[in-house]
Amino acid sequence: MSDIRDLTARQAIDQIGRGALSSDEVFGAYRDASAADELNAYTWVAEAAPAGDTAAPLAGLPLAVKDLFCTEGIPSQAGSKILEGYLPPYTASVVEQLQAAGSRVVGKTNQDEFAMGSSNENSAYGPVANPWARDRVPGGSSGGSAAAVAAGLAPWALGTDTGGSIRQPAAMCGIVGLKPTYGSVSRYGMIAFASSLDQAGPFTRDVTDAALLYHHMTARDPRDSTSVGHPEPIGLPTATKLEGVRLGVPEELTGEGIEHGVLKAFHASLQLAQELGASVETFTLPHAEHALAAYYVLAPAEASSNLSRYDGVRYGLRVEGDGTLMDLYTGTREAGFGDEVKRRILIGTYALSSGYYDAYYRRAQQVRTKVAQDFAAAFQRFDAIVTPTSPTVAFRLGEKTGDPLAMYKGDICTIPASLAGLPGISIPNGMAEPPGEDGPALPTGLQLIGPAFRENRLLQYAYALEQVIGFDGSGARA
Ligand code: GLN
Repeated sequence: MSDIRDLTARQAIDQIGRGALSSDEVFGAYRDASAADELNAYTWVAEAAPAGDTAAPLAGLPLAVKDLFCTEGIPSQAGSKILEGYLPPYTASVVEQLQAAGSRVVGKTNQDEFAMGSSNENSAYGPVANPWARDRVPGGSSGGSAAAVAAGLAPWALGTDTGGSIRQPAAMCGIVGLKPTYGSVSRYGMIAFASSLDQAGPFTRDVTDAALLYHHMTARDPRDSTSVGHPEPIGLPTATKLEGVRLGVPEELTGEGIEHGVLKAFHASLQLAQELGASVETFTLPHAEHALAAYYVLAPAEASSNLSRYDGVRYGLRVEGDGTLMDLYTGTREAGFGDEVKRRILIGTYALSSGYYDAYYRRAQQVRTKVAQDFAAAFQRFDAIVTPTSPTVAFRLGEKTGDPLAMYKGDICTIPASLAGLPGISIPNGMAEPPGEDGPALPTGLQLIGPAFRENRLLQYAYALEQVIGFDGSGARA
């Protein structure tokens, strides 16, 4: 591990500013490491440093970008065979903004196909190894971005989170992941999964870097009518105390189904929060237990509609079949989509069909409203809600691929905030041993959820906790 790649992004930018390092030296160190990637974290790596504004605030630093962000002239396949070789004619707004701020794209990262998954094993381009234990998953769906940052192949990365795909892999890889308030970042140029939930966010090694990258991401974009930007600029956090901060611990997300080691690490951090002056109180989010079921109706419903555009006519793969239009459609979709994507299209189409719409889709929307109301009530009493991020540490590759429901349950702690459009951040929360095994110990995550557009406060709390938790991520960069 070179010295350059031991620096956080903020530290590297400072050194470039002082003339101790050059932008190209930093880019080159990461590019070379990315080209030698043994984790399968990347699906594409830049051959040389691209042109960029190295005098801009982000100083020409490399940025790893989840494959589902369209990048002009660079493969953007969303982990799917149906988009194999697709070269978009334009770049996603958020990537463009970060380029304008001085970022340079070092690579595109592997992911679950169309962001559907929790382990990165649904990628058409193969699974990603967790840098802490290579026989284990990095989490998903943004597994490549999380693994790349944890392993020191990129100083930071972009991911997307629909039901947990930034927070959960961040937790499993021992890094920071921020899922912003829905609408604060443009979705233009993100290959869609479930449009009412999808949101881009940063993966970083520490909370300061998350604030810095997110600062340059927020925007009202005329090309995304659901984007509103952020009411205040995102600042770099400095808090060292949590005096007067009221933390709520939802019973429903901190009990059954959470591994013993994860819970132990969670309670240790609650203790630290109290030592910093926070009050910690248990409360109930009565509809949280139905959030997972509602999500797995709503997200597939939106996906079935979004994915109808892949017909063999416009993008990527085309299977001609017997020459009829119907055969072109069915042959392309049969060959191009993986099993999980097909499963979701089937569920979503069923839930939206006229005979079942009221029983499933409408009902799930009603649950979504109830979950949002639960949070609104909780934020009358609390400044932030804290939970473990993932109920488990990273599991073994192949361990859950045969059991979609077991895989879905990995999202119990992250999905409620997604349904409510709220910001959530996962920070490293120490290590825990997998249950029933002697080791190795693996990272766990602490999730903090805040009211909409309160990212600045959330980042302050996360920063203060990060200082006292004192996580050492070097084990993943060895
Ligand atoms: N694991 C969840 C799913 O499979 C969430 C994925 C995501 O946030 N993109 O849908």
